[in-house]
Amino acid sequence: MYELHFGVRRLSQLLIFGLIAATGCGQQPARVGDFAAERQRMVQEQMMARGIHEERVLAAMAKVPREEFVPADERAAAYTDHPLPIGYDQTISQPYIVAFMTEQLHPKASDRVLEIGTGSGYQAAVLAELVAEVHTIEIAEPLARNAEATLARLGYKNVHVKVGDGYKGWPEHAPFDAIIVTAAPDHVPEPLVQQLKEGGRMVIPVGGAIAQQLNVFEKRGGALKQIAALPVNFVPLTRDPASK
Ligand code: SAH
Repeated sequence: MYELHFGVRRLSQLLIFGLIAATGCGQQPARVGDFAAERQRMVQEQMMARGIHEERVLAAMAKVPREEFVPADERAAAYTDHPLPIGYDQTISQPYIVAFMTEQLHPKASDRVLEIGTGSGYQAAVLAELVAEVHTIEIAEPLARNAEATLARLGYKNVHVKVGDGYKGWPEHAPFDAIIVTAAPDHVPEPLVQQLKEGGRMVIPVGGAIAQQLNVFEKRGGALKQIAALPVNFVPLTRDPASK
């Protein structure tokens, strides 16, 4: 299963750009040791200044230690306005994108959320601060195991990590109040539509290799209705050939 990932994309193609172009080019990385202050500044400059206003979401972004989810040599850059490499040709999303997607999910304290693309586990940790249960699926086993270990070390007990092809969702725990997909398929996977509760939200990038659109959907009458969309660049959602 891992081989699929090594050849996925070059790092330069993995960068995730939000609606607002990354402003951090050339900026100095944060100094190690003052992460709490860096986190506060990230919330003010990268989120509040760009229109993220939901207080619970801002509080979660101000709490989760992003430096714990990146490789040791990227810790100093943990709060910069960029995605960062996490190994296996994958990236942890730009902080603004994490906040934007989280806000668009309209997370409620009683929600059970499905995430596709665990990666570092950072997005799952942000959600874990806001909802009752997070189920997250990662296709690259080493990333899944590493994320699981990080989340356990930080004391997150309401995140459940599974290795597998997220295209199929996690039927044993369906239906979900909200679904967040952090890798881009070329169409919305039908199993995910089925596993979303009526009235629930799905935030998902969809598109081809070069450009995608980040869609916010709400399930109404059994079908997805588009609420919002913005151009983005995510890594592709890969498929496990054995699972087709
Ligand atoms: N949410 C992550 C970042 C996601 S990067 C974080 O907070 O760090 C996208 C992730 O999706 C990668 O780790 C990639 O391996 C994973 N992925 C790609 N295709 C997948 C699939 N079919 N099922 C599950 N995970 C997938």
